[in-house]
Amino acid sequence: MSNFFYNVSIAIPLRQAFTYHSENQIQLGTRVAVRFGAKLKLGIILEEINHDGIQTKPIDQVLDDEPIFSATELDILGWASDYYHHPIGEVCNSFLPTSLRNVKTAMNIDAPLVTADIDIKVFTKILSDQQTNAVKFLLKLQGFSPTLLYGVTGSGKTEVYLRCIQEQLLKHKSVLLMAPEISLTPQLELRLKEQFGDLVGLYHSKMTPAKRYKVWKKFRSGETRVLIGTRSAAMMSAPNLGLIIVDEEHDASYKQHEGFKFSARDLAIKRAQILKIPIILGSATPSLRTLRSVEEKNFGIIKLTKRITKQNPPKFSILDINETTLTSGLAPQAIEAIATTLHQNKQAMIFINRRGFAPQFICANCDWRATCNSCESSLVFHHHQDRLICHRCDSAFGVPTHCPGCSAEQLSFIGTGTEQLEITLQELFPNTHIYRMDKDSTKKANSMEHLLNTIRDSQSSILIGTQMLIKGHDFPNLELVVAIDVDQGVTSLHPGAIEEMGQQLIQVAGRAGRADGNALVLVQSRYSEDKNLLQLKQGNYLNFAHSIMIERKALNQPPYAFEAIIKASSPTSQTNLDFLQKLKATVDSKHCMLVGPIPSMQAKLRGSYQHQLVLQAPSRVHLNSMLRTLIQTLSENKKSNKVRWSVNVDPVEF
Ligand SMILES: [Zn+2]
Ligand SMILES: [Zn+2]
Repeated sequence: MSNFFYNVSIAIPLRQAFTYHSENQIQLGTRVAVRFGAKLKLGIILEEINHDGIQTKPIDQVLDDEPIFSATELDILGWASDYYHHPIGEVCNSFLPTSLRNVKTAMNIDAPLVTADIDIKVFTKILSDQQTNAVKFLLKLQGFSPTLLYGVTGSGKTEVYLRCIQEQLLKHKSVLLMAPEISLTPQLELRLKEQFGDLVGLYHSKMTPAKRYKVWKKFRSGETRVLIGTRSAAMMSAPNLGLIIVDEEHDASYKQHEGFKFSARDLAIKRAQILKIPIILGSATPSLRTLRSVEEKNFGIIKLTKRITKQNPPKFSILDINETTLTSGLAPQAIEAIATTLHQNKQAMIFINRRGFAPQFICANCDWRATCNSCESSLVFHHHQDRLICHRCDSAFGVPTHCPGCSAEQLSFIGTGTEQLEITLQELFPNTHIYRMDKDSTKKANSMEHLLNTIRDSQSSILIGTQMLIKGHDFPNLELVVAIDVDQGVTSLHPGAIEEMGQQLIQVAGRAGRADGNALVLVQSRYSEDKNLLQLKQGNYLNFAHSIMIERKALNQPPYAFEAIIKASSPTSQTNLDFLQKLKATVDSKHCMLVGPIPSMQAKLRGSYQHQLVLQAPSRVHLNSMLRTLIQTLSENKKSNKVRWSVNVDPVEF
């Protein structure tokens, strides 16, 4: 009786696969049940090996008739495990539908459909010359050819995607269209279904496991041929994937922050590379990493520089607020501009990245400041709930009438949030509709879509919103945008902050002036002479990005260097510091720069202190070799148990 030996990935936080044997040959990528300790665990067959005769346990059960991951998909998962230095078992598990993450459910796949010719509906929208040109360019792409579709806001990227998708459908192929956030999927779904009907599917993490399983099966069998999905859809199987599109490729939401910290954008690029298919990265504000790849001719580029409506882009104006008394964060000139806009029967938008009423609650008599018990971050006053709320852990606290420090009654709110603006603006403009869009006002299912539709249909009104409001939504009547919260981006020490601020301002400007092209973006700042702000004022994102990149290159900073973070988390600061200090001492940092240990941006979270080492290397090879050494040291160190540690490659927040 001959045995077959397999390396099996098991969803546990250990950085290795485990060897089991079976009397029967099993296809790679198949789900199996194996004994691990006393428990029966779910495993995936990764590879067959020649065994050297050590005792192995048998595979208990083969769960499905066919593999869940194809050979190329296993390659991609293996790459992801190496690249992000994350346990292979957890990597594999994250891309299984929830319903199949156990040893009890067998997957029952209907036989793949014969891909019949599809009925193609004639496109109703006529393309501009630039769009036609872009489509021509993109349809010629063959094999792995990553291409940036740079399109200013309102230039009609979606219509270009549609033509490319149709071409794939005609070739009997499937397409994966990725969006960074669930809120952006309804409008894409609507437009795609209009064109391709039932061939279109949608997949994201807010759907029930049962619903997701159904969508997963349909895409896998070829019944749906175009899948719109967020991060979790990056590895969705299709019988004949011909094209991947990553919309809004710059968006930080493509990066997962908990557990397996992967970027769905980067995973999609790797997938396209391994499958040897084209991938289109679309954005009006491409990431510096993508622009570097374009600069080095690793990515192609095609540009849409004109709005389809042929309207002028909005004008930027920077308002110096150093000598100004603000009303709930608004300068008098901004309030006047809002009044004028409303008078013209148009909409005004206030863009602010702080929800709640006021970001701080303090005592004027002593140094007391309301902070969260377990995170030490400032508590934000929420007027509607009449509570002080921690935005990190969501803990809520009552509002004291006397200072807990000195018993004085001089307690006051500092700063402005969306709720306060709503109240102030309602007082200033009592007969105007005011719509607030933030995480609090859009909690209920479909409330976001409902709000967006109401705003689109309304004439003269004021919109108040966080970054949620600026992503991809069009407001035809919007004529004025006031940005009141950009100085954090200007002054931040973190290099990513200025890039993000630029992207947000260009995106927010893109929401305005689609109808008549007289729109204005008013940027309130205490740093009106800042060179990055002045560059942005021209409204050309590529120039803005280019000037930052010249600086970064000179300083050897990303995108001209590669970064990773090793984070330690424990109940005391000292434990973290000792732990990271010791770790740092073990490496020879000839090629790499090691910064820290320093407190993480979230210095304390849910009762645990967080510290980190930041690694920076001139190349991926150097970064990886250093990470490998560090992880090896950590795995061998028994004291590691006291500290929870994690690795974050290509971090987007620090
Ligand atoms: Zn006090
Ligand atoms: Zn908290």
